[in-house]
Amino acid sequence: MIIGVPKEITGGEKRVAVVPDTVVRMSKKGFSFLVQKGAGYEASFTDEMYEKAGAKIAENAEEVFSTADVIVKVQKPEFNSDLNKHEIDLIKKGNLLITFMYSLHYTELAIQCAKAGVNVISMDAIPRTTLAQKMDALSSQANLAGYKSVIIGANALGKIFPLMMTAAGTISPAKVVIMGAGVAGLQAIGTAKRLGAIVEVSDIRPQVKEEVESLGGRFIMVETDESMQDAGGYAKEASEEFLKKQKELIFKHVTEADLVITTALVPGRKSPVLVTEEMVKNMKPGSVIVDIAVEFGGNCELSERGKVVEKYGVKIFGEDNLASKIAVNASEVYSKNIMNLIEHISDKEANLQLKLEDEIVKGSLICYNGEIVHERTKSQINI
Ligand code: NAD
Repeated sequence: MIIGVPKEITGGEKRVAVVPDTVVRMSKKGFSFLVQKGAGYEASFTDEMYEKAGAKIAENAEEVFSTADVIVKVQKPEFNSDLNKHEIDLIKKGNLLITFMYSLHYTELAIQCAKAGVNVISMDAIPRTTLAQKMDALSSQANLAGYKSVIIGANALGKIFPLMMTAAGTISPAKVVIMGAGVAGLQAIGTAKRLGAIVEVSDIRPQVKEEVESLGGRFIMVETDESMQDAGGYAKEASEEFLKKQKELIFKHVTEADLVITTALVPGRKSPVLVTEEMVKNMKPGSVIVDIAVEFGGNCELSERGKVVEKYGVKIFGEDNLASKIAVNASEVYSKNIMNLIEHISDKEANLQLKLEDEIVKGSLICYNGEIVHERTKSQINI
């Protein structure tokens, strides 16, 4: 099986789907790699490193797409303006594309892939089960994004995080409020605590209270009778009533915070607005908001995707691809997720063997043999 690694073409994307170390490990098991020239450069992996690891270097994307049996990417397929063709149309019919496609949000891409006869496994759809943990790229990337969100916030503040007693007086600790205690939020709590801040946390799922407290965060509990978690452990879309109650409760916490980090997502839905314009107006001048849910609508009413804006004296970071800012580590862990997935769907001779009844394949296969086979994607487009 030849695994093709094209250079990412999405603006600002520095990650690469496979790193040289993975090439070494998988080559020993019989897999071959064709890596586009410069594909790893932005993540600090040179062509020489790939060649030394045993990969072949392709001069351009067309060569990768037309030669490889499986294409591995980070970002969803896009129009390649150099080649004047959509990446989907560059993939050979019947071949497999593995990438983050977010088919619940970008249903038109699933339709396009099915029409082109391209089979797709989407990394965001890998089930959150124990067996699939080593392929869980949502977690591997969110974990790093959570860390970086704190670093960005800390850097933008005119304050330090810890309590400091000096001869010139006592500096009180910074107050950080984190909205959403999933993988990114939990890492943000740990990072902010290690730097010495006071951390308060809001999540729709009361189940996370213990985890938050074990990391040293204070949980802001919204009392409700509603069930907020689905069978897969994900948040359900909250009712208007819940969101109203939550906003009232967090108003005080947000307006007293130095840094607010928002990570709240609901799979397949627009992210909930948690930090309103009214809250921002009442925040202290010089405070900072880092909104990492901005790709799917954002948790702050005033954040703008991919931009840093200043409103009412508050700096608001609309971070839509934080993992790319830590491209070395993010590529390394993503590459491991990809390796584990490919090994899972291959036989001992390194040939692709998609078992449709397999729990991981069933959960993450979006398109197969010209059809959309992923139930949640189908229901999103009503077919
Ligand atoms: P996510 O990125 O989908 O969402 C981030 C957080 O936002 C979640 O904790 C969610 O509850 C929260 N949220 C949603 N609406 C909110 C609101 N209105 N206010 C405040 N918070 C809100 O979450 P994730 O990081 O992908 O994790 C989802 C679940 O999957 C979690 O239960 C996590 O523990 C679980 N998980 C399991 C495994 C595994 O078992 N292998 C691996 C990773 C994650």
